[in-house]
Amino acid sequence: MITAYYHPGYAAPLGGHVMPIGKFALLAEALRAEPRVRLAEPAPLGEADLLRVHMPEYVAAVRSGEPRALAESQKFPWSPDIYPSVLLTGGGCLAAARRALEAGISAALVSGFHHAHADHGEGFCTFNGLVVTIDALRADREVGSVAVIDLDLHYGNGTASLAASRPYLFNLSIYGNDYRQNQPFRDVSVLRHVDGENHQSIALPNGAGRTEMLGALDEGLGRLRAWGLPDLLLYQAGADPYREDPYSPLDLGEDDLRARDRRVFEFARGEGVPLAWVLAGGYTADTRKVVEVHHNTFRAALDVYR
Ligand SMILES: [Zn+2]
Repeated sequence: MITAYYHPGYAAPLGGHVMPIGKFALLAEALRAEPRVRLAEPAPLGEADLLRVHMPEYVAAVRSGEPRALAESQKFPWSPDIYPSVLLTGGGCLAAARRALEAGISAALVSGFHHAHADHGEGFCTFNGLVVTIDALRADREVGSVAVIDLDLHYGNGTASLAASRPYLFNLSIYGNDYRQNQPFRDVSVLRHVDGENHQSIALPNGAGRTEMLGALDEGLGRLRAWGLPDLLLYQAGADPYREDPYSPLDLGEDDLRARDRRVFEFARGEGVPLAWVLAGGYTADTRKVVEVHHNTFRAALDVYR
């Protein structure tokens, strides 16, 4: 049985924004038919959880809408609905992590928000739910070290910037390296990456398929093993590497991404490290295809965790 944390309040109305927030509700609906998946509602984060990671001025801006440029730095039009929704999505990530520590595996139907920095948002990411989760668990002494396996199409620059001052966090980002493509983000810094000992990345060349992707994943998992196995893995299972995604220069189909997910789960299970995963990006025009990729992550987990 896999517990997946979902709440209808995750989705703040964003007008006609590119971000397909409806995919979370569609995936939750599909999962109701999975006998070995249980949906549960998380509690929202408290402001104190955000303040371990994010600057007070930035948190206040997202809550109040002022100053507006900071409140909208993630590139969403600000509304009073955003703050409660991001407390819930962060709460989903934290709940899944706690559940994974008990059960070995869990998921949250949220994004990890890997572009969010301490003092501003970027690339549709308001608060970094991954690092907020890690620091909440550390504050309660539930974990010592945590690793993030970030397989979104985009480089996890926010998580990397936050990892620089957190030696207990290892961030691995394997991303599609094509800056000429028409990216959803205008922020130049989303495309700038700075690696360090505990925040490393591997770029996949244009046109990379299953062999290159799994090879990069094995290399990355080897680096993680060399760093030291953590107490918890957070897996950012992006759907935007998918070949039909408008931003993807990679040649990865549904089966390839399912093989990717399976490899991550086999690693976690084989090493005996609890794992919680989140969904991350996915912008294919036909939302049903994005939902299918995310649903396949559940199928891969159900295959591995019997
Ligand atoms: Zn992405």
